[in-house]
Amino acid sequence: MFVDTHAHVNFDAFKGDSKEVLEKCLREQTWVINVGSQYSTSKRAVEIAQSFPEGVYAVVGLHPVHLFSMRVDEEESSFETREEKFDYQKYLELARDPKVLGIGECGLEYFHLPPSQEEEVEARQKQVFLEHIMLASETKKTLMVHSRDAYEDIYQIIKPRMSGLRAVVIHSFIGNWKQAEMFLDLGCFLSFNGIVTYKPRKEKKPGGSDPGLLEAVANTPLDKILLETDCPYLSPEPFRGQRNFPFRVKFVAEKIAAIKRLPVEEVERQTTANARKAFGF
Ligand SMILES: [Zn+2]
Repeated sequence: MFVDTHAHVNFDAFKGDSKEVLEKCLREQTWVINVGSQYSTSKRAVEIAQSFPEGVYAVVGLHPVHLFSMRVDEEESSFETREEKFDYQKYLELARDPKVLGIGECGLEYFHLPPSQEEEVEARQKQVFLEHIMLASETKKTLMVHSRDAYEDIYQIIKPRMSGLRAVVIHSFIGNWKQAEMFLDLGCFLSFNGIVTYKPRKEKKPGGSDPGLLEAVANTPLDKILLETDCPYLSPEPFRGQRNFPFRVKFVAEKIAAIKRLPVEEVERQTTANARKAFGF
């Protein structure tokens, strides 16, 4: 059994078929944690989780990209963000549901910043990230961190606050071994997705993965690794560019097994045990 610890079957890309997609995941022995990026998608993640007796869970929070309205263009997708103010009480009420296993995705996004407001946005992102950390401490749920071009600041913010948190996951880790090591020393889990199946770039581009990413995968102890898809985005090879699904998490597992020269069954067993430990289900 696999666990996709970071999926978005709660997003519009699955509006017409979320139930069928999740039923197929459960039939294929893949459990799913759907992650909110705003209040609306967080609430939807909780409702979806409630409609399954087991195997589908939720994480609730406000993604840093949604603190301002702007156009986001990615290689794999593009969309318009919707500005939202973080309402602690409303998220607290959602987070109290037993199907909610974590708080996020929250953190810092320094790649997409609205032009000419960079400082103001960074300050607001840090403030809202601190509020998510408070919420995770108060609810004793796992903190799910989004970081883009911001590992150093994330590290400085979480380091003094680790003792108040049940667990911390660095989602979509795309850094090098030095950066991985800083977070592992704090006791964080690192979560990898389809990006590890892409051909590594020779140089680090802003917002992109580090050329040292595969070395980071090789050196990260297996008991600190989580698997995710971030679907509908980041489809692993050979499906790159297509809509992604949680059941494709096995392609991420296969790549990690190949890098570590381990049987894929061992990666499957250990990462599932890690997910249970990290999220407490
Ligand atoms: Zn995500």
